[in-house]
Amino acid sequence: MSQDRILYTKPSITALEVQYATDAAANGWGEHCYDYLNRFEREFAAWMGVPHAIATSSCTGAMHMGLAALDIGAGDEVILADTNWIATVAPIVHVGATPVFVDVLIDSWCIDPQAVRAAITPRTKAIVATHLYGNLCALDELAALAEQHGLALIEDAAEAIGSVYHGRRAGASARFGVFSFHGTKTMTTGEGGMFVTSDADLYERVLTLSNHGRKRGETKQFWPSEVGFKYKMSNLQAALGCAQLSRIDELVRRKREVFQHYQQRLQPYVDKGVLAINPEAANTQNGYWMPTVVFASATGITRERLQQAFKTEDIDARVFFSPLSSTPSFSPVATNTLAYDLPHRAINLPSYHDLTEPQIARVVACLLSVLPD
Ligand SMILES: *Cc1c(COP(=O)(O)O)cnc(C)c1O
Repeated sequence: MSQDRILYTKPSITALEVQYATDAAANGWGEHCYDYLNRFEREFAAWMGVPHAIATSSCTGAMHMGLAALDIGAGDEVILADTNWIATVAPIVHVGATPVFVDVLIDSWCIDPQAVRAAITPRTKAIVATHLYGNLCALDELAALAEQHGLALIEDAAEAIGSVYHGRRAGASARFGVFSFHGTKTMTTGEGGMFVTSDADLYERVLTLSNHGRKRGETKQFWPSEVGFKYKMSNLQAALGCAQLSRIDELVRRKREVFQHYQQRLQPYVDKGVLAINPEAANTQNGYWMPTVVFASATGITRERLQQAFKTEDIDARVFFSPLSSTPSFSPVATNTLAYDLPHRAINLPSYHDLTEPQIARVVACLLSVLPD
């Protein structure tokens, strides 16, 4: 068996992506400079089942514009899970609002609706639901809270392309949803993101913001009506995006197959309560961006022990997100017990599309080697 290094992620790039990118580089200028971009937005919206999509240079940029378009700013509070990537909270800070970190649920590792309810104040403006590692948030409960308190529900679906909640794609149900096409994600444009919404006014507002504050149909040249942003995606990146999107079902299917190979091997340990893996609740589909294992506290297994085992085997596994409130930019929220506890006994497993079964077996053997006999 080959003992080559097993990478954590890498994109699935075929001749189609090369063909589209080459075409964009050769021909996508002048009157064709937006062809792939317009097509990518149109086809992404259609695939999502939403009327509006705006391609951006990153998911972070999409979130920043969405928050700005909702007029969220100084004095406002935005509730999000403490277990999150920094990209989810950075735009909240950039608009001058205050992030309020709450704990996560034990099974999905996503934001706990009860904790959200307890954190709502008269200053709360929005709830950000991050579908962690492809696992779906409790969207019905969160939507009910948002409705009841007049808050905007936002879906950070950066990790959840291919996840489906009660028949709706992740990112499609909230006031707006955001996606990332960073090189580590299920579908990539190198760097890039997408803003999606069903709200026509919000769409217009973000469209204007995304174009340096220039309104669609403005006849005066070089005439911004306000100070906006420059978070546009390039036509070249969109060409890659069009190719990846035409393969999206295959890309998601392969992510699910990789997870299922892990699951087959790990299920006996799940059944015995030794460890937990990404859940797939009834009436949902998990896009399984990132297969993740959380060991039971009773096993005594630590992140350091796991990292050592994977390092020895030359397997590029990654740590579970540390709570954002524990990082130097914020103040610790000690009551977020699970968000603080989970990373100490968890690990993300390699999951790129071309991972082979023997490689998966090697990862699992390494993972289980930390358990006492
Ligand atoms: C990757 C990621 C982002 C950021 O995506 P960028 O395109 O790098 O800005 C945001 N939120 C979550 C949860 C992510 O995993």
